[in-house]
Amino acid sequence: MQPALGNQMTNSYERFGDLSAREIEGQDYAIRICLRNGPILVMAPHGGKIEPGTAEIAETIAGNDHSFYTFEGIKADGNGVLHIQSHLFDEPRAIEAVKGAEIVISVHGHADREDGFVMIGVLILV
Ligand SMILES: [Zn+2]
Repeated sequence: MQPALGNQMTNSYERFGDLSAREIEGQDYAIRICLRNGPILVMAPHGGKIEPGTAEIAETIAGNDHSFYTFEGIKADGNGVLHIQSHLFDEPRAIEAVKGAEIVISVHGHADREDGFVMIGVLILV
């Protein structure tokens, strides 16, 4: 039986410092970032196998015009542990990208065989 999303959140890291002490970039997680001139940053902090499809949606929204950031889970399984809650997400490259933006569009989602959703949050920083 698949664990519920809530379960995964309970057992996930609370901040990036804890995560990076135990997980290896390039093996357990990956960060893709593309900063462009302009006020809009599109991000997926739970990309890859954490919230599948969200990085691809964010990348599509960003296109060639807007800045893009994703933190992706690339573990073989158990990627839910990499789910740092959005309001606690403090990965340094994400913080820098947000500092340089005026509008942050954040893509979240969840899908399994029964149901799924995509949630898009917008934060205006000016
Ligand atoms: Zn999310």
